[in-house]
Amino acid sequence: MVKNKYDCVVIGTSPLMLIEALYNSKLGKSVIVIEGKEIIGGSWHCFDQNEIANNLEIGCHVWQKNTEVTKFLKDYFAIDIEPRFPQPKSIFYGVKLPYYFIYLFLIFRKINFKSLFKLNHLALYKSLAFDFFQELFNRSKYYYPENGSSELISKILKKINDSSISLISGNQALSIDLNSMTLSLKDENVINFNEIIATNKLDIDQIILPNNDVFKIKKREAVIHNLYLVIENSPKTTLSYAETFGDSVIYRLSDMTYPDSTLSENGLRLLCADIFPATFHKYSQEEIKTLVITRLIKWKIINDNSVVVNHYLNSYKYNGQGNETIPLFNSKMNPKIVFLKSNNLIPSLADNIERWKTKLK
Ligand SMILES: Cc1cc2nc3c(=O)[nH]c(=O)nc-3n(C[C@H](O)[C@H](O)[C@H](O)COP(=O)(O)OP(=O)(O)OC[C@H]3O[C@@H](n4cnc5c(N)ncnc54)[C@H](O)[C@@H]3O)c2cc1C
Repeated sequence: MVKNKYDCVVIGTSPLMLIEALYNSKLGKSVIVIEGKEIIGGSWHCFDQNEIANNLEIGCHVWQKNTEVTKFLKDYFAIDIEPRFPQPKSIFYGVKLPYYFIYLFLIFRKINFKSLFKLNHLALYKSLAFDFFQELFNRSKYYYPENGSSELISKILKKINDSSISLISGNQALSIDLNSMTLSLKDENVINFNEIIATNKLDIDQIILPNNDVFKIKKREAVIHNLYLVIENSPKTTLSYAETFGDSVIYRLSDMTYPDSTLSENGLRLLCADIFPATFHKYSQEEIKTLVITRLIKWKIINDNSVVVNHYLNSYKYNGQGNETIPLFNSKMNPKIVFLKSNNLIPSLADNIERWKTKLK
């Protein structure tokens, strides 16, 4: 049951926010977590499309290696993180190369020959070149939970369910008032709070400051289009994850056939392709499917005998704004609301782990 007063309101349910909620609960605070979407997990949520599979993931995910975060997720949540096999690739105009080549491509993409030797460009090339060489000498860098993000979210949720935290989904936070210290929800409930910890992808129009000034939150609507393909007669180990360059249809690809899934048991393979928005809007679903399959055969990810037994096209909308709002808000210096900085998941967890470890044992 939702009460009308909490010490701490957490907005958003990415793994980062859920772990932050657990941490605050361990500090002895009453905590409520609010999620606007029906499904928990933010951009790591999974959904069922029963004809295709259970636990379809949003987008194509890959994680960097971080021994400390891996140990933390194993010790506290029993989440097994494995190296992706084979290690991710970059596909450059159809040619498969090790993943770290993306740093070289980024340099080429950024080069503007007119300003090639400008100081700020040189600094960028230097940093991308550093990333390239660092990865060249540090193989086996890319990891993921053995059973994908459904393992990640379900194991974190188990801890949330065992705690005293209240969790509500399908109810957007509409307005934060730091004068009356109230949060208004879409269902017209109003919650009193002592502090708010929000995702930096917060999708809200405004925050009312203690002096009644209105702080506008910047929004950047983003959408990701995924084509999921269930495939029979396919080689299994040619790809785990890839980013492509020089293609107008697919920009990321992931194999989502996890060992515990019924698809694996039945010898089927699940691939997910991220489709460029321009292509998504230009072609029909059948045409997109054909364009993707042609590429998968050409890039030797599936072969001529492979059969697509099912497919599904999904679009996921989210607020792509983030780190640009936080420094602006923090400059107003209100300690009652904190935005948790996030970028890729592992570095975001690593930023907070020292603080969490002391309480989450
Ligand atoms: C498609 C995609 C692919 C990605 N791939 C990778 C990857 O391969 N590797 C990697 O490490 N990271 C990846 N990321 C990065 C990912 O964004 C972060 O790991 C992390 O999930 C960010 O956490 P977050 O809380 O900032 O945002 P999100 O995960 O976006 O979660 C924000 C949540 O807050 C909710 N919310 C927002 N406003 C409100 C409101 N007013 N009321 C209630 N709820 C609200 C949203 O509904 C959403 O569920 C990817 C992100 C996306 C979108």
